[in-house]
Amino acid sequence: MTTVTRRRTRAKDGATPAGNGAREARANGKALNGGGAHAGGGSGKAAGLPAVPRGETAAESPGWRRFVGRWLEAHHCKVEAAPRGDWEVELSPELQKRWRRQRVRLVFDPARPTVPRGAWFTAPGSAGGRRILEAALAEPLFTRRTALACVPGAPDDGWTGACRVRGLNWGPARLGPVRYERRVAFHAVITRWGGLPWQEQWVVLVGAGGEVLERVQAAQVPEVRPREGLYQLPEELEPEVRERWLLSARATLEALAEEREREWAVSVGRLRDDELDRLGSFFSARIEEEEERMRRRAGHDEHELEHGDATSLKLEWERRAAEVRQRWEMRTEVRLWGIEEWSWPVADLEQELRAGAMRVKVKGPVDVARGRPALPPCPSCGRPAEMLVRARGTACCAACAPA
Ligand SMILES: [Zn+2]
Repeated sequence: MTTVTRRRTRAKDGATPAGNGAREARANGKALNGGGAHAGGGSGKAAGLPAVPRGETAAESPGWRRFVGRWLEAHHCKVEAAPRGDWEVELSPELQKRWRRQRVRLVFDPARPTVPRGAWFTAPGSAGGRRILEAALAEPLFTRRTALACVPGAPDDGWTGACRVRGLNWGPARLGPVRYERRVAFHAVITRWGGLPWQEQWVVLVGAGGEVLERVQAAQVPEVRPREGLYQLPEELEPEVRERWLLSARATLEALAEEREREWAVSVGRLRDDELDRLGSFFSARIEEEEERMRRRAGHDEHELEHGDATSLKLEWERRAAEVRQRWEMRTEVRLWGIEEWSWPVADLEQELRAGAMRVKVKGPVDVARGRPALPPCPSCGRPAEMLVRARGTACCAACAPA
């Protein structure tokens, strides 16, 4: 692979998102009211918004300003309102080193005709916006969360709905106390280049032992209600455990990218071949015409010249086909953009399998965040069983049962 690579934004320096007609009017000074009126007012008044000054103007994108604000706040920068909706930012030591400056003035208003000396115009795709995006992509974001427990933590009838039985009955289920386990979710974007570029978001959830528990095509860990902070897991991670997790996540993401690449190779290959076919029928028709004309003129002095035309058509065809192949050549890129450390509620489910006087106790884990038990372990081999049968006076899975 498929090393974790960074994507670059490709917009031009200084490109502005709002190329509307309002720009000239505002440049003539009419924007001053609109631009400055909100500066410094209402910092973080809406719930969930960062406590940074807003002061946005009509022409800019509020989502972008919010993103920049959250990001600066997460990186421990101090943001203050400046005139005309600008932000005066005191950079964190880390960003000071990266950008070789202590403070920066951010200008968001795309209608501003000039930017103060040393200030950065900050729109997506602008030089300032790109610096921020590049810094944001340099390291994966890291958060700590707790998965809230479901009530009840498991179905009342335990595994009855999840695991079929033959010659046996499930007895009453008992759920043990809830404990919290550490899990780590790795968030990645897989990008396909070539022909029609394509992106997919994936999450890989890794368990306490480094085992991969889930692999989902989604932006977030699905079916879970999160709360910020790491509940009931005070001790820091051991470095070797962290290493194991990273290795296992990396291996999974690489395998995933290869899988996707194999699938994409088929669909991309089909589109490429269609285009090559169209190119082929166009050029073979042209060559045929040319050869037909050549036959009609046979005997003339131009014979050599006509032959040359068909040859140059063939060369042109080859050149265009190579172009098509190159354009559809596939490249896959995996970028890890976020890591979440989770405190995850789990419990043990105990349930008896019964047949007449026979009693077999089965014990297995439950994902209390989803209120869902994993498949029960086979009492004989311990592997997760979709079905349990009665055999040799005990219960076991289909693989363990004598034929
Ligand atoms: Zn078994």
